[in-house]
Amino acid sequence: RQAAFRADVSALLEQVGTGKESLSFMKRRIRRLAAQWGMAAQQLDAKLHGRWRDEKKILVHVGFLTEESGDVFSPKVLKGGPLGEMVQWADILTALYVLGHNLKISISVKELQGFLGVPPGRGSCPLTGPLPFDLIYTDYHGLQQMKQHMGLSLKKYKCHIRVIDTFGTEPAYNHEEYATMHGYRTNWGYWNLNCRQYMTMFPHTPDNSFMGFVSEELNNTEKHRIQMNKVRNMAVVYGKEASMWKGKEKFLQILHRYMEIHGTVYYETQRPPEVPAFVKNHGLLPQQELQQLLRKAKLFIGIGFPYEGPAPLEAIANGCVFLQPKFQPAHSSLNHEFFRGKPTSREVSSQHPYAEQYIGRPHVMTVDFNNSEEFEAAVREIMRTEVEPHLPYEYTCEGMLERVHAYVQHQDFCSPEAPLPSVNSSRTLQGSPIVLLPNSTLLGWASNATAPPCWPPLSALRLLLSTDGQSCVEACRGADLVCEPTFFRFVNNKDALSRLEVQCEAVEVETNHIFPAFSVLRRECGLQKDPLLFSCAGHRPKYRRMCPCRDVRPGQVALCRDCL
Ligand code: UDP
Repeated sequence: RQAAFRADVSALLEQVGTGKESLSFMKRRIRRLAAQWGMAAQQLDAKLHGRWRDEKKILVHVGFLTEESGDVFSPKVLKGGPLGEMVQWADILTALYVLGHNLKISISVKELQGFLGVPPGRGSCPLTGPLPFDLIYTDYHGLQQMKQHMGLSLKKYKCHIRVIDTFGTEPAYNHEEYATMHGYRTNWGYWNLNCRQYMTMFPHTPDNSFMGFVSEELNNTEKHRIQMNKVRNMAVVYGKEASMWKGKEKFLQILHRYMEIHGTVYYETQRPPEVPAFVKNHGLLPQQELQQLLRKAKLFIGIGFPYEGPAPLEAIANGCVFLQPKFQPAHSSLNHEFFRGKPTSREVSSQHPYAEQYIGRPHVMTVDFNNSEEFEAAVREIMRTEVEPHLPYEYTCEGMLERVHAYVQHQDFCSPEAPLPSVNSSRTLQGSPIVLLPNSTLLGWASNATAPPCWPPLSALRLLLSTDGQSCVEACRGADLVCEPTFFRFVNNKDALSRLEVQCEAVEVETNHIFPAFSVLRRECGLQKDPLLFSCAGHRPKYRRMCPCRDVRPGQVALCRDCL
């Protein structure tokens, strides 16, 4: 069946259910953004010129909200607990619904079993018939629940699953045997999925799929009005829980010399002692009221935690400058409690690396908060500069619809991939026109008649050799491209090595997450033996990676130019 865009979200609101504060929060959000989603649907519809879109049967099982997983989030919704996940799930539900898919929602193991047709009861009782869904969106909790209740059949059906995974899962952690043998085992990883089945909150590593969420959009009149009404010396602090404020008084005091400081810190009866007396605390605000506060404020200031949440994008969209601390050294699962046990080695260079790297000045300033002079100079600069409200396209409703549409229609982890010539072959790239880019380490080919069908289309491929110790995430980004894990299998061969003019004295084929790569010391090349370990994120000193990059649609890093 052809999917038809939907404009009215009332049926979705009914499906979301009641009885938990988290569900009420999500429903308020869906209702508040409904008109914006409706407009975005019209825009995408026009852009796709009525192209055929399959209507998919989709199950959304929100594992972290189930009682069986302990549901620690719902009771904290009104008490300053994390809301980012709920923001994202609300937006995923709305996007799938607005795109016109046939949606079922479950927030308990019982509902999950009912939808899957698994007889209720204890233990693992494998599903016998065909899976009644094309796609299942869940999270790590949900995955564990499916393993327990679908038993052996999970393996058979797992290509249909998508895992919403805020911070991301890198290939070395996802590969069970490799993770176990090489110390990448964590509390979450090793499900042997295709890593693009993990969908993240921000575009961390292209090994995963970037799902994202949306922020409120403004029309030109609203933008203009907001700019007129900005209060030059008003700052709002990012941090709704009192514990986040511990030990932050020093730089808040400096800020207070210049600006009036507002907070939205949850409290029960008394003012939390962590919040300095000079801060005007509004208590935790409903999302809509927070937006109003951000519209007046000139500055939104991060104090180190939470990492990578939605609020800074909302602040920037409402015309604030986001001032945040640079982390030196970067925080990661190796050196920071919060990230410990998370299935990624990603280095977090500031409180919000997306804001730092993808948005930057004048909307975002990332400085060393321990350096009072640098901090003070930044505050003075912010008070002087006029900035316009800004929202990256990929965080608008249309941007999210476009991306989710492309994933739903094109990502396929179930069909077997067409066999490629062996890694020793020198035939794969033959006959394809080479595009040499200025530094001559980049090449690509525009068309390849013998290539199997592939999404993203192979025409987007640009091959590149990283510098010593650099990952493909960084190498491709340095060339204004994006690492594309789908393409690794086309460049994991001797021919690609020779096209890159890598002088290898020997070529080995090994199970190693940094391969394909070139060892600078031994002058040897390594090709990848296990496709599950192809990794954009992998890097090691004294190794240069062979990186399959692709082009990018402006404002939509998840998609290549011809990906729609
Ligand atoms: N938020 C809110 N009221 C407040 C402060 C924040 O509703 O007083 C919302 C905010 O609009 C954002 C969400 O909380 O969409 C998540 O915010 P944050 O960036 O703090 O991420 P978290 O750590 O909660 O995931």
